[in-house]
Parts: sequence; structure tokens; C-alpha cells
Amino acid sequence: MSDNSVKDTSFRDKVATVDQKGHRIWMFPHKPEGKYYNARTIFSSVYLLIFFGLPFIRVNGHPVFLLDVLDRRFILFGQIFWPQDFFIFAIGLILFIIFIALFTVVFGRVFCGWACPQTIFMEMIFRKIEYLIEGDGVDQKVLAKAPWNSKKITKKVTKWVVFWAVSFIIANTFMAYLNGIEEVKKLYTEPLAKNVGTFVSMSVFTTVFFFVYLWLREQVCTVICPYGRMQGVLLDKDSVIVTYDYKRGEKRGKFNKSEQRTLGDCIDCAQCVKVCPTGIDIRNGTQLECINCTACMDACDKMMSAVGLLTGLVRYASENSVAEHKKWKFTWRMKAYSAVMCILMGVLVFLLVTRSDVGITVLRTPGQLFQQWPNHTMSNLYSYKMLNKTFKDKEVTLVAENFKGEIKMVGENKFVIPKNGYTVGTMFIYMDDQEIKDRKTVLRIGVYEGKDKISTITTSFLGPFKGN
Ligand code: SF4
Ligand code: SF4
Repeated sequence: MSDNSVKDTSFRDKVATVDQKGHRIWMFPHKPEGKYYNARTIFSSVYLLIFFGLPFIRVNGHPVFLLDVLDRRFILFGQIFWPQDFFIFAIGLILFIIFIALFTVVFGRVFCGWACPQTIFMEMIFRKIEYLIEGDGVDQKVLAKAPWNSKKITKKVTKWVVFWAVSFIIANTFMAYLNGIEEVKKLYTEPLAKNVGTFVSMSVFTTVFFFVYLWLREQVCTVICPYGRMQGVLLDKDSVIVTYDYKRGEKRGKFNKSEQRTLGDCIDCAQCVKVCPTGIDIRNGTQLECINCTACMDACDKMMSAVGLLTGLVRYASENSVAEHKKWKFTWRMKAYSAVMCILMGVLVFLLVTRSDVGITVLRTPGQLFQQWPNHTMSNLYSYKMLNKTFKDKEVTLVAENFKGEIKMVGENKFVIPKNGYTVGTMFIYMDDQEIKDRKTVLRIGVYEGKDKISTITTSFLGPFKGN
């Protein structure tokens, strides 16, 4: 920070929500109002509509989104993923982490303020309910200090009941993402004894959500969330974050409309602090606790307008743009990072698009050597597992690609893989013994659905040792 910025940096030695004795300082942020809060309300309404609506959307009778961890079955945007697709998940996860890192370097914690479920639920659902029942921040503080009279008991109990009900709805939705909406419905249409597991999970999730939004609150962002902790290494002086323009604001001082103002534009009204849900003073500079919720931007704009000064004293800006009074620019570094992000997204899309509908593994049965037959043929015994990642039964044929031979199943001689399921079995591969040159021959097998080749698999064929 520059010379005319705040010199006292003792705020960095403590968490804003914990006092000297280590006790929690409860936050009673004032209700934000302004264009950014309105924009966030609209954005989060759409977000919540999607969150609560997605489990109900079914295409051809199948969910669009399902994260069935117990059965290890995942449906994302109508596509079935099995544990065998873990490499796509792994690459997707790595790409996502790189994406988040690059995005944060360029655009700061925009995600935290606008799209993080914790912020959305806390600020856009539970906080709004609290304002409705207990009043604005000042009223809440008064109520917290008031003795337990009938008014306080009524308000608190009402809040707890509503919080519990909302937590219950969130828990139901969460369970629908994990188990499917049908499983959740069973809890209400079938005897409880049949759905004890679902009931226990639902109760645990409801309790956890209730605890998080009633008690834990901003501590999730300021103390627990690992993403918040990484800001120190992700942000640099060109990152766009919620920033106080100390060049313009300092030296701060009270506003007096009868005097010609000789101080900076900050009128030291502390409105930006009063609305902050994490209890920090944005005028101290970038802080890990800041979730970029924009409440201080709205509060400051309101004060600036009230005293006839330019808005934007607290705004989205980079440290460099504030220090050098430059307009924000989409720099080459940002362009390069954005290009890398686009490439990474492209790689992920490519992986998803080229992913086969069928997953097949063919392994030689352990402990089995080759079998020699009288007509100059040899055979190996194999175990196979075939996965169908679609909602239609699939009949496939296996065709020898780089060898002369025959593939024969044990039992029925066709491979039918049930929809959204798998089949396992054993099969023989027969080869002309003249073709076997080594102890181990690598075989390539084409997988066909009708006339369409959908995949190629490789396995090995074990023959007799032909060394010197
Ligand atoms: S400093 Fe401003 S943007 Fe950051 S958390 Fe507080 S109110 Fe939100
Ligand atoms: S709201 Fe604006 S004017 Fe008031 S203290 Fe904060 S930065 Fe200064």
C-alpha cells in the first residue's frame, strides 16, 4: 500500500470475528442495498431455481444430474459415468483446479461473492429470513443483548423453525442429487422402516445445514474454506478485487457540508464496515476474510451519492489500477491466462465428446496357461467386463483386428450389455499356432455395434516359450 494508506496493520494479526480472549464476536451486518445487491439477488434467484429444480428434471425418464456415490454411478448432463471413467474425473478435477487458480489470479474472488453455494445460501436465503424476522443488523444486535422475554423467545423460535425447515428442504435436494428424487420420494410414500438409511442421512444433512447457517456462518469462509486460505498466493497486484481507492479516499475525515472539503473522499462513515458479513474494514486493504460480496461497494456508493461525491470509492479494481490511477485493462497476462483456460476447457470437452458409450476390459484369466488343440490352434481363457454407459441395451460384437483367430464366448454367443449396467463373463480366443511367434502376443480387438466400430481394446495371448 502507498504512504497515504493505513499504516496500522495490527488487524492482520487477528481474525475480525474473534476477540482478544478468543471469544466469538457475532456479526450483525446491516442489510445491503444497491445495484450490486440487486444484481446478486437476481443472479442467485436463477442459481437457486436451477439448484432446487435440477433433481426434478428428467430426460426420457432419466435424471439429468445424479451423483450416486454409494452405487458409484454418476450422471452429468444426461451422460452416465462409471468409476472406469475416473481418468476423465481426475483430468476434469485438475483442469477445474487450474481454472479456478487462473480465474482467481485474474478476477479475484468473484466466485465467492457471486456463485459459492455457502455465500448464496447464507446471504441470499438465511440472512434475508433473519432480516425479515429479527430486523436489520442494529435490531438483531439489540435482540441478542435483550433478556429472554416473550418477544425474544417468539422471534428466536420462529427463526430456528424456519431455518430448520429451509435446512430440511436443502437436505432433501442434496439427497436427491446423491440418491435420485425417486429415493427421496420413497421416504414420504413408504413406511419409514423401509427407508431407515435415507431417513438417517436426511436427518444428519438437515442438522449439519442448520448448524452451519445458524451458528457457523461466516466462519466457513474466514476460517474453514481452503480456497479462502489460498488467496495470499493466488492474488497479485493486477487481480481485480473489491478494493478501496485509498488514493482518492485518504486522508479520511468526517463530512461537514458547511466547509470546503480539503480531506480525501472517505467521510469515515463506517457504512462499509457495518454491512460487511465477515466484519472487516475494506479500507485496510486486501484481506483473506473478504469474500467479495460487494456489500461495501453498495454501502459506499450510497454514502457518496448522499454527500454529492463520485461513486466507486470502493469498487472492483486492481491494486495497480488504484495506485497508478489507471483504468482497468484486459492485460496481456490476463489474455494469456484466459487463453490457457479456454484451452483447458477445450481439452475437457474433447475428452467428454470422444468418450465411448461402452467400456470393455478383457483380461487373461489368472493362473491359466494356453491350451493346445489338435487342429494346430491354441486358445487362451479370458474374463471380460462390459459397461454400458447409455440408457439403451447394447449388443456388441468383438472382431479380431491384428490376428487370425476366433473369439468365442462361454455360454450364449453374443454380448448384450444391459442399459446403464454391465455384464461379466468368460470367453476364449483361438489362434493358429503358426501365428504365435513369442510367448506373449499383443492382440487388438475391435468392438462393433452393428457395422459401427465403437472402441478398440488390447489384450495379450500367452503361447509356449520359443526361446533358444
Ligand atoms: S469487505 Fe466488502 S466485499 Fe469484502 S466481505 Fe466485506 S462487505 Fe463483502
Ligand atoms: S462507506 Fe465509503 S465513505 Fe464510508 S467509511 Fe467506507 S469507504 Fe469511507
